[in-house]
Amino acid sequence: MLIGIDLGTTNSLAACFRNGKVEIIPNRLGKKLTPSVVSVDDEGSILIGETAREYGYLHPERTAKVFKRTMGTDHEYDLAGMKFSSEELSGFVLRSLKEDAEVYLGEPVHEAIISVPAYFNDNQRKATKRAGELAGLTVSRIINEPTASAIAYGVGEEGTVERCMIFDLGGGTFDVTILEYFKNIMEVYAIAGDNFLGGEDFTQVLVEMYLQRLLVASVNLLDLRTLSNIYKAAEEAKCSFSDHDTVTMAVNVFGVLHEEQFTVAEYEEACRPLLEKLRKPIEKSLRDAKVTLDDLDRVILVGGATRLKIVRDYVKKVTGIYPDWYVDPDTSVAQGAALQCAMKERDRRIEEVILTDVCPFTLGTEVVRDNGAFEEPGHYLPIIERNTVIPVSRTQTVYTAHDNQKIVTVKVLQGESYMARNNLLLGSLTVEVPVGPKGQEAIEITYTYDVNSLLEVEVKVVSTGLQKKVIIQNEENKVSEEEARKRFERLQYLKQNPREEEENRLAMFRANRVYEESLGSDKDRIGEMIGEFDNALNNSTRLEVELTRKKLEDLLDEIENKGFTGLIS
Ligand code: AMP
Repeated sequence: MLIGIDLGTTNSLAACFRNGKVEIIPNRLGKKLTPSVVSVDDEGSILIGETAREYGYLHPERTAKVFKRTMGTDHEYDLAGMKFSSEELSGFVLRSLKEDAEVYLGEPVHEAIISVPAYFNDNQRKATKRAGELAGLTVSRIINEPTASAIAYGVGEEGTVERCMIFDLGGGTFDVTILEYFKNIMEVYAIAGDNFLGGEDFTQVLVEMYLQRLLVASVNLLDLRTLSNIYKAAEEAKCSFSDHDTVTMAVNVFGVLHEEQFTVAEYEEACRPLLEKLRKPIEKSLRDAKVTLDDLDRVILVGGATRLKIVRDYVKKVTGIYPDWYVDPDTSVAQGAALQCAMKERDRRIEEVILTDVCPFTLGTEVVRDNGAFEEPGHYLPIIERNTVIPVSRTQTVYTAHDNQKIVTVKVLQGESYMARNNLLLGSLTVEVPVGPKGQEAIEITYTYDVNSLLEVEVKVVSTGLQKKVIIQNEENKVSEEEARKRFERLQYLKQNPREEEENRLAMFRANRVYEESLGSDKDRIGEMIGEFDNALNNSTRLEVELTRKKLEDLLDEIENKGFTGLIS
């Protein structure tokens, strides 16, 4: 079975296409969203999703989140002495989604279409693919998140040509896509974005506002757990700006409850630099697509952070268009990925959608330029220009730069700067050439960018016919097959928290956290209930455990929903 997966910075989810419609696949806790969080508990087991997030509030040093931001880099997360890359952590999240899908669908799931931010570069895309493989999934396609959302919005709609802008602000990334639909033809014109801008930055603003009010001389004085509590309070406060003009943050700092109120006007002012950062990709995408705001029929909002009213207001102000967000912004990407699965399997119930996508970056190589007086090294020669429709294959011919040159090294670069060194080095390829005077040997460099936005480079020495071909992989991240196999095995053998214990562990972690956060009689009541639940876990039947857990959850709901006044009493 093939499923669609939205592997998000904050949350992930899976969906499939069955019996002619998209189904969102619930996780083991019956929820549609699985937080992209991984922890290693004190017994060395791996926790994933909501259980990991809850555990992480009290054990931030054993928990990794927002790791999608370092996808494709060699950054390592140290969880209780075990080191993991973003790719491996994402592999755990994917494995959990795969297992949940198998239970829900009642059949094995071996294949997936996974979405990535449109602005993800080649390294990040390949790392995502490998993460899928670590989870035991064949990733048959990588799809751009905004394109997936556009499919969720557009498929099946009849009629006129529509030009739209998809404004996708997720937890950690921002993409703007300009596309056109006409019946079943969907054409992406341009993509622009920022891989380091998302909802988490809007949370960080509130964290900083709170820290300023605290007047703590140095943030370094605060321990990790307090900082993690402040972050949690900021995240909740940010989300409640959706229906309140004033929000409260209350956190225990050095044993004292510090309660602070913030108005939406203050927040908007503090977020001004972030909002301004949204403008540039909007302008760039329109420019690249050769479209003006007047040509746009619709602006579609996607991604959890577009729930922020200040973001929606800003989009409206900049574009002059009242944006749409009628497909659930949390699930539209997964829905689109599931529809893409149906298209791949040529499900007759879905009209074949012809989709053209673009390559969001310029891809090129480094060359020496003769400026008439002397030779200048370090120039960038674009081979595939950004926003070219994919799949695409382009060839450029370069010549030897020195007399008696024996080898030619082709650097594969990605970026927009005319100076080669300012662009991202994706890899390099070396070929031998017959010696001779400079300029004698011609080398043809062919870049092929496929529908999954994965790059293949072929270098050919014209005189000898010698050819070399590689799928580009960053030198630093290059892993041998042997290493990849070992890594896969290591991850497979790590103990994972058993599915059937998930709800109990989650309830216990949550109870411990609320216990720590509470004061007075609430603390006593939770303490008693924790004892009762612990006892049930050790001595009772499954049904009794479930009843006790329900009682504990009701109590926690009551205390948490009472809000901050409960903490003070
Ligand atoms: P995504 O990656 O699309 O799941 O988006 C996740 C981001 O959306 C996170 O930064 C969340 O804090 C943010 N988010 C989710 N719900 C809300 C809300 N009601 N108000 C503001 N931000 C939200």
